Amino acid sequence: MGQEVLTTSADKIKQMKKHYHACLEKTPQGAVFRAKTPYAVITAYHSGKVLFQGSQPEKESTQWKDSSASTQAAKAKPSSSIDTAIFQKSHIGSDESGTGDYFGPITVAAVFADEVQQVQLKQMGVEDSKHLKDDAIHRIAQEIIQLPISYTILKLGNEKYNHLQLKGWSQGKMKAMLHHHAIDKLIEKLDGTNYDGIVIDQFCEPAVYKRYLNSEALKLHEKTTFITKAESHSINVAAASILARARFVTAMDKLSQEAGITLPKGASGKVDKAAANYIKSHGEQQLGHVAKLHFANTNKAKKYLH
Ligand code: MG
Repeated sequence: MGQEVLTTSADKIKQMKKHYHACLEKTPQGAVFRAKTPYAVITAYHSGKVLFQGSQPEKESTQWKDSSASTQAAKAKPSSSIDTAIFQKSHIGSDESGTGDYFGPITVAAVFADEVQQVQLKQMGVEDSKHLKDDAIHRIAQEIIQLPISYTILKLGNEKYNHLQLKGWSQGKMKAMLHHHAIDKLIEKLDGTNYDGIVIDQFCEPAVYKRYLNSEALKLHEKTTFITKAESHSINVAAASILARARFVTAMDKLSQEAGITLPKGASGKVDKAAANYIKSHGEQQLGHVAKLHFANTNKAKKYLH
């Protein structure tokens, strides 16, 4: 059992809490949050101290050391590393869905649209999927795929997700691999068509993303730009967010239908109750077929059973 201690800002702790949202545990008194990953238990305190304890605490702590250093560098040179011109050029955009939802798969979509098609996407009302209701998502997704644009959509089902998670993969690594493969497949589809770059909606530090790829002997595609809230900069990322969400919603509808229970989206108390109902009618063994088992919802659901 090892231990690492880090002192960081309240902002960074907020970011960490968001990063570990899928593996949060009960918050101890005086702490901001506690999360458990296969490598460490992470406890952040209001003092700014963050404790990493477990078999390989450095696997978690390192990424935050990296990022605090790069944050300082970024502050010194505001956004100079991002080539904003790429958003207006022909590029590939990718985004994911389902990562904060207890039930259902993770989906990732990558979209390529040239300058002319980007204007068409804008005219269709393409925007971040988070602002759109399910019926609008489906309608716009249908319109998007009718354009002569190229896209790929990948889905990581719950069984495979749970298998990888038990193997020690973080959700971040799963997302990185899905983005990479979606982009890879899209480049193959483009069959030599020129694109000026790739924009990925940033969910972790680029250095961490690269490390995930390297751990599976993969290399980051050239001309890749990471940016947070990418859907507000790149219409192609916004279109990808809609395609990913539409696939997620379709998968959820199918899972609900098969289960005979409406499986709610998100990870709220409503979700705990639905999980308890699912266990009652299908047995606990089956839960991994529809849910991301390492979320705190699994234990919360079990409390409804007694
Ligand atoms: Mg995103």
